[in-house]
Amino acid sequence: KNHSLWNNVDEYFEEKLLPEDKILNQILENNQAAGLPQIDVAPLQGKLLYLLTKMKSARQVLEIGTLGGYSSIWFAKGVTQNGKVVTLEANQTHAEIARKNIENAGFKQTVQVLVGNAIDTLPTLENAGESFDVIFIDADKQNNPKYLEWALRLANEGALLIADNVVRNGEVIDQKSEDERIQGLREFMNMLENEERIESTAIQTVSSKGYDGFVIGIVK
Ligand code: SAM
Repeated sequence: KNHSLWNNVDEYFEEKLLPEDKILNQILENNQAAGLPQIDVAPLQGKLLYLLTKMKSARQVLEIGTLGGYSSIWFAKGVTQNGKVVTLEANQTHAEIARKNIENAGFKQTVQVLVGNAIDTLPTLENAGESFDVIFIDADKQNNPKYLEWALRLANEGALLIADNVVRNGEVIDQKSEDERIQGLREFMNMLENEERIESTAIQTVSSKGYDGFVIGIVK
């Protein structure tokens, strides 16, 4: 019952706040038709990522976890002129679909999709001297602790850090969970507890995607 209410409220806000965007809608349709899991951010959350990117006047965005490029395109809309989004994806099929979607949306020059396990592609960014104003962690949650370490290495001063799916229906507080994603998430939270370089908060969300949440922080 709650879920259908959350859905209806999302639809209402979408109607009020999200002007019809044929390209973004088409991407969600393409992803579904291609059989991708429907785990992209919800539309209103995509707009939140876009707004945060604009508020930050971000020039360089790093995304870990591309899927079909839905959130990558929201970031691409939010970066400053000549800004850039680098997005990391391990699954070759996901990456190919994302590249097509990104090209169709007109952001081929803005978004670079790097294929490979992020654990292997992140060091190449450091070697290339890249650094970022916004870092979005949204891949395999068991690796969140490693992604946080990388975020600290690749962040510009004052960079915004965002991590998705930190609530997972409340499972985050299950310390005995045998799900390695939950353990990864909990280790990530332990790191934030002790990490002096990051000031952060967490927000629980309900939406068309269910009950979940984000961590949002600033890297000193
Ligand atoms: N950010 C996307 C959006 O909102 O549209 C959703 C990303 S989806 C939740 C997670 C993606 O991370 C999947 O496409 C998955 O293949 C990818 N992934 C999982 N493990 C990965 C890894 N080790 N390195 C890079 N990508 C990975």
